[in-house]
Formats: sequence, structure tokens, C-alpha cells
Amino acid sequence: MQIFLQVHTRRLTAIPVSMIYADHNATAPLRPEAREAMLAALDMGATNPSSVHARGRAARAVIEAARMQVGGAIGSRAADIIFTSGGTEADALAVQGAVDALNGRCTLIVSAIEHEAIAKSAGHSGAVVQTAYVTADGTLDLDDLRTRMTKWDADALGTPVLCIMLANNETGIIQPVAEAAAIMRDAGGLTICDAVQALGKIPVNVALLGVDYLSVSAHKVGGPQGVGALWHRAGAPLKAILHGGGQERSLRSGTENVAGIAGFGAAVEAAIRDLPNYAALAGHRDAMESRLKAEGGVVVIGEGSERLAGTSNFARPGFRAETQVMALDLAGVCVSAGSACSSGKVKRSVVLMAMGASDALAESAIRTSFGWNTLPADFDSVADAWLEAARRTVLKENV
Ligand code: PLP
Repeated sequence: MQIFLQVHTRRLTAIPVSMIYADHNATAPLRPEAREAMLAALDMGATNPSSVHARGRAARAVIEAARMQVGGAIGSRAADIIFTSGGTEADALAVQGAVDALNGRCTLIVSAIEHEAIAKSAGHSGAVVQTAYVTADGTLDLDDLRTRMTKWDADALGTPVLCIMLANNETGIIQPVAEAAAIMRDAGGLTICDAVQALGKIPVNVALLGVDYLSVSAHKVGGPQGVGALWHRAGAPLKAILHGGGQERSLRSGTENVAGIAGFGAAVEAAIRDLPNYAALAGHRDAMESRLKAEGGVVVIGEGSERLAGTSNFARPGFRAETQVMALDLAGVCVSAGSACSSGKVKRSVVLMAMGASDALAESAIRTSFGWNTLPADFDSVADAWLEAARRTVLKENV
């Protein structure tokens, strides 16, 4: 059976409905609550939230309600939320906005496992960049950070600004952000936290984390793509990177995406309500991993570390990641390679290399990620499809 999506060219694109979607960390399916909120906002008609007339005020009310929902989800005041065009822009605003506000007198200490939205923004920021190492278990090396901060020469290096994500997108490994932020605070430094993958999967509270900036994205929590937000502590140095009409307290000019923001607010509220259900995925994930280890000889990346309940990154040396992804795709299962693909070439995962994984592991790691609409049976389907593909190839000699 197939369903059809109508695209604007009037061509029809077929998507098999029997598909198992195990790629929630890439993007989560749109939640019904988000869809409803977006449709209601779209049905408001022409509305610019900056207009003073009734229509404009109605759009403004939608945005402010969503600001409360996003703020509530991370334990912040609504007033400290800046809506952006996504997680990438929120990361860029935090990094460049902090560097510019400090007049470049800072050093960015970027963890070796950051998403490119942070790592590349740091590289382009004009500031000096250092790498913060992770240990073999995939978590930030706090001892190394502490040692560095003890010896920090602020005259030569300026303010130290740590960039550390809350949960890694590839492995799901949760980072010791509160501990790291405390080290930075004691050293007179700042902490930027990319919480894009953590929001809606574990509790996120800016006060408990003690960070200065925190970025989030709507489409990872079941909201629409192209919407995100940056929270920053009142008083934390921040300059706008986009200039224009002065929206978002002049920190992010540009007419707001009203429907998208409405969808973000509704999605994040539903995701927070669903946190216990998300946590319950861990039992099914662990059972799937046990089976894949026993029957398929896989190595689970970060198995001993605290991980997001719905993420499983595993490797089978000798079974190339791209071959696995294609075989699963043919079986109707959507997953991602543990390594990024670009221009047809598969690059080894920077994250796995930072953890000291062997080439054999790094070349054969895939990421499966589950979420709000995953059924327990989906874990079995993924394991069945993977084992069948493995039996045809890498396990052939054993059958
Ligand atoms: N940060 C992390 C950790 C991510 O996983 C992603 C998306 O994959 C982003 C940032 C970028 O977010 P967006 O897709 O909303 O630009």
C-alpha cells in the first residue's frame, strides 16, 4: 500500500506506509498537536506580528503563547527566549553573538563531539578555538577541562567560552554539562550548550545546568523544520548576527514564522508531557541491542554511558555502514549511518574518532533513533531487518 504526497509541481511522490522510521534524531515526525496549532495559525490569514492592528496583535499573541511554552520547557522566563530559523541559527547566534559581544577577546573551547552547527560556527567566528577532549566513554573530559581552567591565562586568551552539547546526536550520550558549566563559572568563563537533541528526551532546565546560552530546535521534538530558539541568561554577552526590523528584542531581526513558532510551542509542550513515555523506550532499545549483540555480533557504542533512551548506535566490523543503511532502506527501515555522508563519500564519524573508536568500528557504525510514535514492535522490526541483511552478507559464513 502506498500513500501519496502532492508536491507543488503537481507531481506525486510515493512513500511506502509500511516503513519503520528509526531516524528520529535526524527529524521527528510532526506531532498532531503541532500540526493543529500550525493550521490554526495559518488560518488566521495575513498576519504580521509587528503590525499594531487587530490581526497583528492576534499573531503576536500566538508567538508570546509559544514563547511561554518553550520557556516553560527549559525552566526559563519566556522573555529570555529568542526565536530563530532553527537549531543551526540558534547555535550560530550563541557562538558569534558571544564572540562579537566580547569583542573577540575570548577563546572558544569546543568539545570534540559538537554538531557542525557549533563546530563550524566556532571556526568561522574569528575567535581562537581550542578542542575540549572526550574520554573513551564519550563524555567530556572534566579533569582536562579543570586543569586547563586552573592554568587559564585570561590576559593572553581572553574569556574562556566552552561549547558543550547536552546529548550527542550520533550516540545519544548525555554530557556532564552542569559540572562543566560550574568549572567554567569558577574560572570566569561562559558555557554555550546545544540542547537540540536533549529537549523533549530528558528534562532540560537552564538554572540546574548553570549554562549561559542554550539552543533548541522544533523539528527534533515533533515540531516543524525551520524553527528554533536560543535562550540566554539575562546579562550574558550577546550581539545580534542578523540586523533589520528589530524583532526578538533586536537580537534576531526578521518577520517571525508565526505558524512554525506556534507548532514549536505545541510540540514542545506535548514532548515534555511525553517524557516518561520516551524514557520507557530504553527497555525496548536495550532488548534490541542484546539481540543484535548475541545474534549479530554488534558492538554498542556508548553502552556503559548514560544515553538518550531512544538512541542506539551500533557497529559490526566488516559490515560497512552505507551497506547497512541501504539494506535496511530496501527492507523499509529508515536509519542513518553513524558517519556523515557528503558528495557521495562516507566520512568517518568525528564523534566516534574522538572517542578513540577503531577504523573498523567507525566505518561500520549506524544510528537508530526512536521517538514519540515508535511502537514496541518497531524495535523487533529493526532487529529482524538488520539480522536478515547481516545474514546475507557479513554473517553468511556463520549460517
Ligand atoms: N545541533 C544538533 C546537536 C543537531 O543534532 C542538529 C540537527 O541535526 C542541529 C544542531 C541543527 O538543528 P537544525 O536542523 O534545526 O538547524
